[in-house]
Amino acid sequence: MDPTLDDFRLPSSDRCWWCGDVATTEEHRIKHSTLRRVAQSEEGKVHPGNVFKKSSDFEGALHSIKKGAQVRWRKNLCANCNNARSQPFDLAYDLFEAYLVDHMDDMMRWKSLDWPAVYGSDWEEKARDLARYFAKQVGCMLATQRLPVPQELVAFLNGAERCPST
Ligand SMILES: [Zn+2]
Repeated sequence: MDPTLDDFRLPSSDRCWWCGDVATTEEHRIKHSTLRRVAQSEEGKVHPGNVFKKSSDFEGALHSIKKGAQVRWRKNLCANCNNARSQPFDLAYDLFEAYLVDHMDDMMRWKSLDWPAVYGSDWEEKARDLARYFAKQVGCMLATQRLPVPQELVAFLNGAERCPST
């Protein structure tokens, strides 16, 4: 952890940063389905060593796509928040990823993204849910670092239309 942020750190907590219940689950830093897709060889075998990761604290092939600090945040969400409550966000992410994978060879020529092509007529809510997927990741990252999660971010996950940056 970066010592320059130590003044902001909270005491250790066993609570879900979203709802306050006891935290029992670890959110994936990268979706397990995404890791499985990338780890799959042409013969269809899933091998963690096929995934190369580069970040501030790690560089190399993964040893596991299921557990460990490189693929999971610390235990800081309850099961209900990590599963049922955030299911629409995961679904929005899955649809978006499938769209990117399907169009990756054409996208470089696009000037913008056609959201209705990705999500259909309710693209505005689905695009918000995609943003909430990343907001949940930010929350897990902050909680893992024992930094406070902004209330605006929690309100966004709870259904607010926007997440102000201040
Ligand atoms: Zn919770």
